[in-house]
Amino acid sequence: MTGWTILCDFDGTISVEDVIDSLLDRFGRPGWETLEQDWRAGRIGSRECMTGQVGLLDMTQDELDKHLSSLWIDHAFPAFVAKTRELSTPLRVVSDGLDYAIHKILGRYGLDDLPLAANHLAPATPPRQWQLTSPFQADGCRSGTCKCAVAAQAAKTGTKTLLIGDGASDFCAADRVDFVFAKHRLIEHCRAAGIPYVPITGFEDALELLPRLLDGSLLAEHTPGEPALAVTIP
Ligand SMILES: [Mg+2]
Ligand SMILES: [Zn+2]
Repeated sequence: MTGWTILCDFDGTISVEDVIDSLLDRFGRPGWETLEQDWRAGRIGSRECMTGQVGLLDMTQDELDKHLSSLWIDHAFPAFVAKTRELSTPLRVVSDGLDYAIHKILGRYGLDDLPLAANHLAPATPPRQWQLTSPFQADGCRSGTCKCAVAAQAAKTGTKTLLIGDGASDFCAADRVDFVFAKHRLIEHCRAAGIPYVPITGFEDALELLPRLLDGSLLAEHTPGEPALAVTIP
């Protein structure tokens, strides 16, 4: 088996907006900003931050569902998924966000059957209260979903691994995969760390690049250390 497996971030990569940020803006009780500052300053990990923040959400199920129905995904993501299926390349969504939200949003596009590793959002008591658990956390890691553990596990399958992502939650996984399609802050991380990558603006680019990834030509052009400026997206 010499194919590729794709690990794909959700918030900011598949979705346009960050789901938790948008929920906190709308339904967060006071205190979530302090947790955000503690996380940004490195005083707490994302798991502690989000567990606390989700506990501060004040919303009904209907309010949550209505809000989620207003969030959009990258317009080319459904075509990208169709292409991966046509080319028999497994894609797994690996997210430090909320499983319920991801299923709900992807469901509008008939894509809620994609394999998913994410934090688990569940209603709590009393009503309007919510609770977060992290079934994909790992020992010694402060993230909710340990993407580095998921990437390490994918590497053991004998296939090569592509990561598609945009932010800080993707940094540790980027160090453990064979190639990265990078957006936003992940671009600079890959460049600085010498990780083979191509910068993308969205799934339209990813769709163009996928055949060149699978035929090996992208990887051949991008051995670590080569300047990323040599890349052209057709
Ligand atoms: Mg992201
Ligand atoms: Zn981790």
